[in-house]
Amino acid sequence: MAARVFRSSLRWWGCRGAWLSRPAARCSHSGGEDRLETPSAKKLTDIGIRRIFSSEHDIFRESVRKFFQEEVIPYHAEWEKAGEVSRELWEKAGKQGLLGVNIAEHHGGVGGDLYSTAVTWEEQIYSNCSGPGFSLHSDIVMPYIVKYGSKEQIKRFIPQMTSGKCIGALAMTEPGAGSDVQGIRTNAKKDGSDWILNGSKVFITNGWLSDVVIVVAVTNREAHSPAHGISLFLVENGMKGFIKGQKLQKMGLKAQDTAELFFEDVRLPASALLGEENRGFYYLMQELPQAVQHKLAELKTHICVTRAFVDSCLQLHEKKRLDSATASMAKYWATELQNRVAYDCVQLHGGWGYMWEYPIAKAYVDARAQPIYGGTNEIMKELIARDIFRDK
Ligand SMILES: Cc1cc2nc3c(=O)[nH]c(=O)nc-3n(C[C@H](O)[C@H](O)[C@H](O)COP(=O)(O)OP(=O)(O)OC[C@H]3O[C@@H](n4cnc5c(N)ncnc54)[C@H](O)[C@@H]3O)c2cc1C
Repeated sequence: MAARVFRSSLRWWGCRGAWLSRPAARCSHSGGEDRLETPSAKKLTDIGIRRIFSSEHDIFRESVRKFFQEEVIPYHAEWEKAGEVSRELWEKAGKQGLLGVNIAEHHGGVGGDLYSTAVTWEEQIYSNCSGPGFSLHSDIVMPYIVKYGSKEQIKRFIPQMTSGKCIGALAMTEPGAGSDVQGIRTNAKKDGSDWILNGSKVFITNGWLSDVVIVVAVTNREAHSPAHGISLFLVENGMKGFIKGQKLQKMGLKAQDTAELFFEDVRLPASALLGEENRGFYYLMQELPQAVQHKLAELKTHICVTRAFVDSCLQLHEKKRLDSATASMAKYWATELQNRVAYDCVQLHGGWGYMWEYPIAKAYVDARAQPIYGGTNEIMKELIARDIFRDK
């Protein structure tokens, strides 16, 4: 059924012939040695290159490219303002067979190969439109359901997700728990055969538009390690006590909705458990303070060394002895460092660093202008180089 949708999508885009006899999404490999590899191609985005792809993938790629050009690019600026893409887009993508591409047809997916999925990722990147959260939905959430779900769960969700009528999200992160699963507080307690879910999640991609969310929750506090007491649940939009918080303002990915989710005594039937109880996630845990301390030590050293040089430039300038090559070194070096420090500090903040309300997000974005204005750093290097090669 889904593969039919996929094939008809290509007909819709005017792609016929080879595709209909040998669907790209089904062929598990490559097009042969005679295809140009990336370095020899005119453009990285050329269709018909790279031996991992076949001519059927090319036909599929043409259709996906057309989809992004016609259905996404013209609306993306509007979606950036709204902080979300339209629901209509999801259904259009479903109709064109662009969701659940690598999910088997007998489960209700498109039945395509991994390379076809890669085509959808690549074409989205080429369109420069980060809004549609298709890959999270198709390549993370759907595989979880297919891999760990019961027959009933697969039947209930997968065809709907392939059609774009049901949007998926994965809710793991909490205000106090990102990389470290031990911090998860969201919990589900047994009540007869039901579960009662309480807690909150943050930074959830597709969270605002989501119809079904895989929620990670603690189900056994007594487990010998937290990783042994965690389970996954399928929580549906509209369930009493499932509240969607605000869409978060980020420094980028502005059309992609990222939301907070709250669970207040949400009653879940036994059938909402995904996979086995207490067999949720296992994370590798390492010493956090050690890693952060070393990074801060590194950054401070770089800043101090740079400051010594800038201070000396200040003194020279005050005495009207600062030459242009030395001033160029200071500008080039200090602004590059500013960017490196801001980058590393965003990283240290984790997801919070990407949120616009955090000062580090602003510092990071603002820093990017520094190597450009006031004379670009390439021009600074030119001045420094000229000084080196001046007849001495
Ligand atoms: C745009 C966006 C979309 C997101 N979408 C989702 C989503 O759909 N679902 C979801 O559940 N989450 C989502 N997240 C959250 C994301 O997965 C977390 O931000 C990420 O796991 C980091 O967690 P944290 O923000 O709590 O940072 P922290 O875990 O507090 O990390 C802060 C810093 O400490 C470092 N650190 C942490 N632990 C260690 C360690 N053991 N060793 C060395 N260094 C360490 C990190 O590398 C980082 O540099 C999203 C985040 C963003 C920004």
